[in-house]
Amino acid sequence: MKLAFIGLGNMGYPMAGHLANKGYEIVVYNRTTAKAIQWAKEYKACYATSIQQAISNADFIVTCVGNDDDLSQVVLSEDGIIHHAKDGAILIDHSTVSAEVTRDLASLLAQRHIDFVDAPVSGGQLGAQKGQLSVMCGAKTEIFAQIEPILQAYGKTIIHMGDIGSGQLTKMVNQICVAGLLQGLAEGIHFAQQAGLDVEKAMSVISQGAASSWQMVNRYPTMLQDEYNFGFAVDWMRKDLEICLAEAAKNNTQLPITNLVSQYYKELQNLGGGRWDTSSLLVRLQKQPTSSSE
Ligand code: NAP
Repeated sequence: MKLAFIGLGNMGYPMAGHLANKGYEIVVYNRTTAKAIQWAKEYKACYATSIQQAISNADFIVTCVGNDDDLSQVVLSEDGIIHHAKDGAILIDHSTVSAEVTRDLASLLAQRHIDFVDAPVSGGQLGAQKGQLSVMCGAKTEIFAQIEPILQAYGKTIIHMGDIGSGQLTKMVNQICVAGLLQGLAEGIHFAQQAGLDVEKAMSVISQGAASSWQMVNRYPTMLQDEYNFGFAVDWMRKDLEICLAEAAKNNTQLPITNLVSQYYKELQNLGGGRWDTSSLLVRLQKQPTSSSE
């Protein structure tokens, strides 16, 4: 069984590493070749300098790139998957993109007898490094059965949600839930600071109670240290929330909080915080404590 992995970013780099550690025969490709060289050295495996070279013999092709345009480019460009994958190959995409581009690419790939699985992930860079991601998959049932053992290399919870596109729809639910939660956490810390409480003490007691969440437990210590140069980037979150809002407009869902938080992230982008962690919503509150529109 031969694998190719495209996109060695914060997520893809450790995910491809888990596949190599499991003993899969794997070739990686990264647009910036230096990262692929570094990866190949670390995991004692092969890298390619073009997508064509990486995938021409692959039974399974795994992608983890950026947004809709990036995925479309990796699939449709001259060097892209659609032109060079072998008949019967299966493409597993871990990027967070729209359900629409997912379905469009899947139907184009199907004409070339290449199956597609949308398999976005949750759990962050740490989850990818520890091999403990949640993976939500949209795929034909018989295709899911073939790819599930591969995903076990870095997935702790792997669920087949239904047809192609349903993985991305599930990831949208995840991002909708996280957006409001992060703003609530930022507001709670901001309030505690303004009220003159010992914030560390306040957070340590409430993070053991009903307000607790993964975000609270993992992020309040770094938020209190003003540490934001890590983790899931504001630019990515903004992309994801815009995907949610576009889908909501199509299926007539009200997402007032998601809409608001997306605008807050836009403000952080304007402050130069595009690559800050998503918990940086606190920075925005601290910068405008009295003139905020809330
Ligand atoms: P990242 O660190 O920015 O890495 C993006 C990767 O995609 C890089 O390897 C980049 O290559 C490659 N890439 C981007 N556009 C490309 C293009 N047009 N052609 C070829 N390669 C391209 O991003 P990440 O944090 O790993 O996230 C990857 C995906 O996972 C995103 O869709 C993100 O929303 C999703 N995700 C991320 C997290 C997280 O915590 N980071 C969690 C869940 C889901 P270069 O090295 O050349 O730039």
